[in-house]
Amino acid sequence: MKLYRVKKSNIDRKGRGLYATQDIKEGTRIIDYVGKIITKKQTEDSEKFDNSKPIYLFNLNNRYDLDGDVSWNTARLINHSCLNNCDYEGQGLKLWVTTIKDIKKGEELTCDYGFGFDKDFRQFPCKCESKNCCGYIVRAESRWRINKRFSLGFKKNNRLNR
Ligand SMILES: [Zn+2]
Repeated sequence: MKLYRVKKSNIDRKGRGLYATQDIKEGTRIIDYVGKIITKKQTEDSEKFDNSKPIYLFNLNNRYDLDGDVSWNTARLINHSCLNNCDYEGQGLKLWVTTIKDIKKGEELTCDYGFGFDKDFRQFPCKCESKNCCGYIVRAESRWRINKRFSLGFKKNNRLNR
């Protein structure tokens, strides 16, 4: 039996997600992340990756990237969460998704998309609704930058509303 099934997501309301079909232990390999292996040059030349679909692009090594935006890559449906329970792992040109904590049956499987913080971060709002959600899809190490901005923005808005 597969460890996951695809259904409508609670995080991405317009899309689907992967859900645990049983209790799963930490460190379990769930699914391979597959796609087209392309050269860095192809990535640079392709308009597709001009910030519209970086979600599916993985850096494999200094020569190759993996374009996971293909219909046969079920793992592309995994949503980002600021409190993710899975993570991407890789070796050579292979990528897969492994649990990083024990997961209960019925939980949505989530990863940290690992986006860096740059001026375009507002393009990718996060709706994971976890306690530590910073509001945008940005990798854990960079979230403090957003939290800082966030708290400033929040105060400002509050003042305006009164
Ligand atoms: Zn979040």
